[in-house]
Amino acid sequence: MRYLLVANVYEQIENTTKRLEMTDYLVELFKKTPKNLIDKVVYLTQGKLYPDFMGIEIGMAEKLAIRAVARAAGRRIQEIENNLRETGDLGETAQKFLEKKLQVTFFQQPLTVERVYQTLDKIAKASGSGSIDQKISLLAGILSDAEPKEAKYIIRTLTGKLRLGIADMTVLDALAIAYGGGKEARPILERAYNVSSDLGQVAKIVAESGIEGLEDFKVSIGKPIRPMLAERLSSPEEILEKLGGKCIAEYKYDGERVQAHKNGEKVFLFSRRLENITNQFPDAAELVREYIKPKSAIIEAECVSVDLETGEMRPFQELMHRRRKHEIRQAIEEYPVSLFVFDVLYVDGKDLTLEPYPVRHEVLKEIVDITDRVQIAKYLVTDDPQELETFFEEAIENGCEGLVCKSIGEDSVYQAGSRGWLWIKYKRDYKSEMTDAVDLTVVGAFHGRGKRAGTYGALLLAAYNPEEDTFETVCKCGSGFTDEDLEKIPKMMEPHRIQHKHARVKSKLEADIWFEPKVVLEVIGAEITLSPVHTCGTGAIREGSGLAIRFPRFTGRYRPDKSAEDSTTVKEIIEMYQSQLKRVGN
Ligand code: ATP
Repeated sequence: MRYLLVANVYEQIENTTKRLEMTDYLVELFKKTPKNLIDKVVYLTQGKLYPDFMGIEIGMAEKLAIRAVARAAGRRIQEIENNLRETGDLGETAQKFLEKKLQVTFFQQPLTVERVYQTLDKIAKASGSGSIDQKISLLAGILSDAEPKEAKYIIRTLTGKLRLGIADMTVLDALAIAYGGGKEARPILERAYNVSSDLGQVAKIVAESGIEGLEDFKVSIGKPIRPMLAERLSSPEEILEKLGGKCIAEYKYDGERVQAHKNGEKVFLFSRRLENITNQFPDAAELVREYIKPKSAIIEAECVSVDLETGEMRPFQELMHRRRKHEIRQAIEEYPVSLFVFDVLYVDGKDLTLEPYPVRHEVLKEIVDITDRVQIAKYLVTDDPQELETFFEEAIENGCEGLVCKSIGEDSVYQAGSRGWLWIKYKRDYKSEMTDAVDLTVVGAFHGRGKRAGTYGALLLAAYNPEEDTFETVCKCGSGFTDEDLEKIPKMMEPHRIQHKHARVKSKLEADIWFEPKVVLEVIGAEITLSPVHTCGTGAIREGSGLAIRFPRFTGRYRPDKSAEDSTTVKEIIEMYQSQLKRVGN
């Protein structure tokens, strides 16, 4: 197949803004394409060589491409650069210089799509020493045989500037018309695309076997399924009504979404945008290998930064350390992650995407070998708005963003690639940022785990209520302590240890160790939130709820100068909550 045919269609598409016309041009192109080449032509029209999840970048630096154009056109680099400054588009510059050359050359070997694709592929994969020269020669080679118009599009493709604006859905429409018997076939093609993320593969199947070839299309390991997304509502009543009166509400963990594909010892992790992120999370891959029981499975989980000693979740920002390649090893140590699994889409050859959620959830419970670091997303089945609200507060306080409430109806399939009402997220409209540190009284402690075995994992801290002369708990704090602090604090607290909760302490939590209120520490947190667990200011903002400090951290300052009664008061915490309330977007 001549590449010129493809280049001509690109030109037509560039000259229209109408989607219907664009589709018509694509249909013509697809019809003229031999079936064994259709996948490659589809990738090329999107400026790619492979589906995105393969992670093979087509990009070539403009500087190198300039050298290849100069060589193919028999011009000096300087001339090409000068012209590029005028046009701003190396594709156009290449076209111009090759037109001039054409007038003096006689023989050219017509370019085929196969040759262009193979050459671009070699350029994309060339690496190591000598690869720069190799890339330039390869490109100069095809440019020498290219018609000027072909050169324009080859250059644009290679430098990542093709930008024809063809949406995935337009390609699916065109395939439906060209090979599927008409536009009505689109949903079948769309589903195949949504569960494979591979337009080329879908094109090839429909071209070779017709729409019947796609009717039984199944998910497969190694090809990411396009993620199901949630709509949003802002009250428990609305959510329950929309979901038919009852739902499974789950913590909305604040980490990074991963879709894990396990095949024996092999594990791939894909991000929400379907990039292969296995290298960023080798520890998470290991967790999947070890604790997802079936031999092969596809699951979805939120990967969250956690404190292994206290089991507390850490803020989302800490995962950003995973983005810098050279720091991965260190990041694994310093910012360990846990997985909270929330869906299962495939198990040992069985595609579960069309099963209703309650069925998938049952399977999920069977296949996860639960440990500290791999858990099923915390959930509650409820039809009660009040219960939902309390669960929401608890989620926020524990470091989550809110809840994802999921349909349990018969039609609650996994809607790959779409944002719909089967999942509804419930996040806060308001946020109360904490800018000042507070001084809190230590009223209890919890045993530590891991490296903190033998010392405290976290302290239970309280604010003072002078009206009632009580200490009301406001957070469990396990962060910010140095090794020195961890050694010092148990010794410091020992004289104040008592057998049961102190009479002036109001706490719904059962601490492992109780203290009389004496010692004061300075703590800062990310914000103050409503809490079903802590007693500070109960009922002041909402009936039945207290206030808590989210992501609390010891500042390192002991306050021996303060007595327990000099601690920050409950009233001050309430005021901080009210004065710092800010509206948040999305
Ligand atoms: P957001 O920024 O709110 O996460 P989003 O567009 O990335 O928005 P949505 O579909 O709107 O995604 O919200 C669901 C997201 O919440 C998922 O992409 C996932 O990363 C995350 N999440 C955390 N916990 C769960 C859970 N239990 N079930 C589903 N998604 C969850």
